[in-house]
Amino acid sequence: MKFFVLLVKRLFRPSKRNNIRLINHIVQKWFGVNSKFPLSVHYTTTLASPSNIKFKGGEKFISSMESSGGCYFSAVNGIYFGHNVLFAPGVRIISGNHSMDISRAAVKSDPVKVGDNVWIGTSAVILSGVSVGDNAVVGAGAVVTKNVGEYEIVAGVPAAKIGQICTCGLQMHESIGRWRCSTCDVVNDFEKK
Ligand SMILES: [Zn+2]
Repeated sequence: MKFFVLLVKRLFRPSKRNNIRLINHIVQKWFGVNSKFPLSVHYTTTLASPSNIKFKGGEKFISSMESSGGCYFSAVNGIYFGHNVLFAPGVRIISGNHSMDISRAAVKSDPVKVGDNVWIGTSAVILSGVSVGDNAVVGAGAVVTKNVGEYEIVAGVPAAKIGQICTCGLQMHESIGRWRCSTCDVVNDFEKK
Protein backbone atom coordinates (compact mmCIF):
# COMPACT_ATOMS: atom_id res chain seq x y z
CA MET A 1 0.00 0.00 0.00
CA LYS A 2 2.74 2.44 0.97
CA PHE A 3 4.42 1.67 -2.35
CA PHE A 4 1.40 2.92 -4.28
CA VAL A 5 1.17 6.08 -2.17
CA LEU A 6 4.86 6.77 -2.88
CA LEU A 7 4.40 5.91 -6.57
CA VAL A 8 1.45 8.31 -6.95
CA LYS A 9 3.41 11.05 -5.18
CA ARG A 10 6.39 10.40 -7.42
CA LEU A 11 4.24 10.49 -10.60
CA PHE A 12 2.35 13.66 -9.74
CA ARG A 13 5.09 15.45 -7.84
CA PRO A 14 8.33 14.12 -9.34
CA SER A 15 10.64 15.91 -6.91
CA LYS A 16 14.05 14.53 -6.11
CA ARG A 17 12.89 13.78 -2.57
CA ASN A 18 9.86 11.80 -3.76
CA ASN A 19 12.06 9.89 -6.22
CA ILE A 20 14.49 8.96 -3.45
CA ARG A 21 11.66 7.95 -1.10
CA LEU A 22 10.28 5.58 -3.72
CA ILE A 23 13.69 4.05 -4.50
CA ASN A 24 14.46 3.70 -0.76
CA HIS A 25 11.12 1.95 -0.24
CA ILE A 26 11.71 -0.52 -3.08
CA VAL A 27 15.26 -1.28 -1.91
CA GLN A 28 14.18 -1.71 1.73
CA LYS A 29 10.89 -3.58 1.28
CA TRP A 30 11.42 -5.53 -1.93
CA PHE A 31 15.13 -6.28 -1.71
CA GLY A 32 15.41 -6.36 2.09
CA VAL A 33 18.30 -3.88 2.35
CA ASN A 34 18.16 -2.07 5.73
CA SER A 35 14.63 -3.50 5.98
CA LYS A 36 14.79 -3.83 9.77
CA PHE A 37 15.11 -0.06 10.25
CA PRO A 38 11.80 1.77 10.76
CA LEU A 39 12.70 4.90 8.76
CA SER A 40 13.35 5.51 5.08
CA VAL A 41 17.09 4.87 4.61
CA HIS A 42 19.02 6.11 1.57
CA TYR A 43 19.52 3.22 -0.83
CA THR A 44 23.32 3.57 -0.81
CA THR A 45 23.64 3.63 2.98
CA THR A 46 24.57 0.51 4.94
CA LEU A 47 23.25 -0.17 8.43
CA ALA A 48 24.96 -3.04 10.29
CA SER A 49 23.02 -4.38 13.31
CA PRO A 50 20.22 -1.84 12.68
CA SER A 51 18.23 -3.06 15.70
CA ASN A 52 21.02 -1.58 17.88
CA ILE A 53 20.47 1.91 16.44
CA LYS A 54 18.29 3.97 18.80
CA PHE A 55 17.11 7.45 17.88
CA LYS A 56 14.95 10.25 19.19
CA GLY A 57 14.01 11.36 15.68
CA GLY A 58 13.28 14.90 14.52
CA GLU A 59 12.85 16.28 11.01
CA LYS A 60 16.60 16.80 10.40
CA PHE A 61 17.41 13.22 11.40
CA ILE A 62 14.61 11.70 9.33
CA SER A 63 15.64 13.80 6.34
CA SER A 64 19.34 12.90 6.75
CA MET A 65 18.58 9.17 6.92
CA GLU A 66 16.48 9.46 3.79
CA SER A 67 18.69 11.64 1.63
CA SER A 68 22.32 11.36 2.85
CA GLY A 69 23.73 8.47 0.83
CA GLY A 70 26.87 6.45 1.26
CA CYS A 71 26.73 6.38 5.05
CA TYR A 72 27.88 3.38 7.06
CA PHE A 73 26.54 2.88 10.57
CA SER A 74 27.99 -0.18 12.27
CA ALA A 75 25.88 -0.57 15.40
CA VAL A 76 27.14 -3.90 16.77
CA ASN A 77 27.83 -2.20 20.14
CA GLY A 78 24.99 0.30 19.76
CA ILE A 79 24.55 3.80 18.33
CA TYR A 80 22.30 6.38 20.00
CA PHE A 81 21.16 9.41 18.04
CA GLY A 82 19.72 12.36 19.97
CA HIS A 83 16.99 14.63 18.65
CA ASN A 84 17.42 16.27 15.24
CA VAL A 85 20.92 14.98 14.46
CA LEU A 86 21.88 16.32 11.02
CA PHE A 87 24.39 14.34 8.97
CA ALA A 88 25.78 14.69 5.47
CA PRO A 89 26.46 11.95 2.90
CA GLY A 90 29.37 9.61 3.53
CA VAL A 91 29.33 9.77 7.32
CA ARG A 92 30.56 6.63 9.05
CA ILE A 93 29.86 5.74 12.67
CA ILE A 94 31.63 2.59 13.80
CA SER A 95 30.67 1.19 17.20
CA GLY A 96 32.39 -2.14 16.54
CA ASN A 97 36.03 -2.93 17.12
CA HIS A 98 38.48 -5.84 16.89
CA SER A 99 41.33 -6.91 19.16
CA MET A 100 44.87 -5.98 18.13
CA ASP A 101 46.07 -9.58 18.58
CA ILE A 102 46.10 -11.87 15.59
CA SER A 103 42.72 -13.39 16.50
CA ARG A 104 41.08 -10.06 15.53
CA ALA A 105 38.22 -11.06 17.80
CA ALA A 106 35.26 -8.71 18.08
CA VAL A 107 35.65 -6.43 21.10
CA LYS A 108 32.85 -5.08 23.27
CA SER A 109 32.81 -1.33 23.77
CA ASP A 110 30.46 1.39 24.93
CA PRO A 111 27.91 2.51 22.36
CA VAL A 112 28.52 5.61 20.26
CA LYS A 113 26.30 8.43 21.53
CA VAL A 114 25.44 11.44 19.40
CA GLY A 115 23.67 14.22 21.29
CA ASP A 116 20.73 16.44 20.36
CA ASN A 117 21.16 18.93 17.49
CA VAL A 118 24.61 17.62 16.50
CA TRP A 119 25.72 18.34 12.93
CA ILE A 120 28.11 15.83 11.32
CA GLY A 121 29.89 16.97 8.14
CA THR A 122 30.46 14.84 5.08
CA SER A 123 32.86 11.90 5.30
CA ALA A 124 33.37 12.31 9.04
CA VAL A 125 34.13 9.09 10.94
CA ILE A 126 33.12 8.56 14.58
CA LEU A 127 34.78 5.59 16.26
CA SER A 128 33.67 3.17 18.97
CA GLY A 129 32.88 4.34 22.48
CA VAL A 130 32.81 8.03 21.53
CA SER A 131 30.16 10.41 22.90
CA VAL A 132 29.40 13.62 21.03
CA GLY A 133 27.76 16.24 23.27
CA ASP A 134 24.57 18.15 22.48
CA ASN A 135 24.82 20.94 19.88
CA ALA A 136 28.36 19.96 18.80
CA VAL A 137 29.63 20.15 15.22
CA VAL A 138 31.88 17.50 13.64
CA GLY A 139 33.75 18.92 10.64
CA ALA A 140 33.92 17.25 7.23
CA GLY A 141 36.45 14.44 7.08
CA ALA A 142 37.12 14.44 10.83
CA VAL A 143 38.06 11.17 12.50
CA VAL A 144 36.62 11.41 15.99
CA THR A 145 38.46 9.15 18.46
CA LYS A 146 37.69 10.97 21.75
CA ASN A 147 34.58 12.40 23.35
CA VAL A 148 33.37 15.75 22.08
CA GLY A 149 31.92 18.20 24.60
CA GLU A 150 28.59 19.95 24.12
CA TYR A 151 28.72 23.07 21.93
CA GLU A 152 32.22 22.14 20.68
CA ILE A 153 33.36 22.26 17.04
CA VAL A 154 35.90 19.56 16.17
CA ALA A 155 37.76 18.81 12.95
CA GLY A 156 40.83 17.01 11.61
CA VAL A 157 42.49 13.62 11.93
CA PRO A 158 42.38 12.75 14.77
CA ALA A 159 39.66 15.28 15.53
CA ALA A 160 40.58 18.21 17.79
CA LYS A 161 38.59 21.16 19.06
CA ILE A 162 38.78 24.11 16.67
CA GLY A 163 35.84 26.16 17.82
CA GLN A 164 33.05 26.76 20.24
CA ILE A 165 29.36 27.51 19.88
CA CYS A 166 27.67 29.84 22.37
CA THR A 167 24.59 28.67 24.26
CA CYS A 168 22.71 31.31 22.22
CA GLY A 169 23.44 29.13 19.17
CA LEU A 170 26.00 31.36 17.42
CA GLN A 171 29.60 30.48 16.73
CA MET A 172 32.07 32.10 19.13
CA HIS A 173 35.28 33.77 17.99
CA GLU A 174 38.75 33.39 19.39
CA SER A 175 39.92 36.49 21.15
CA ILE A 176 43.22 36.62 23.04
CA GLY A 177 43.19 32.87 23.72
CA ARG A 178 39.54 32.77 24.77
CA TRP A 179 36.22 32.19 23.06
CA ARG A 180 33.93 35.21 22.87
CA CYS A 181 30.34 35.53 21.61
CA SER A 182 29.98 38.93 19.99
CA THR A 183 26.20 38.87 20.52
CA CYS A 184 26.03 37.84 24.19
CA ASP A 185 29.53 39.09 25.05
CA VAL A 186 30.08 35.75 26.79
CA VAL A 187 33.71 34.76 27.28
CA ASN A 188 34.81 31.15 27.80
CA ASP A 189 38.21 29.88 28.74
CA PHE A 190 40.07 28.58 25.74
CA GLU A 191 40.40 24.83 26.07
CA LYS A 192 42.44 23.16 23.39
CA LYS A 193 42.27 19.36 23.50
ZN1 LIG B 1 25.95 34.05 22.39
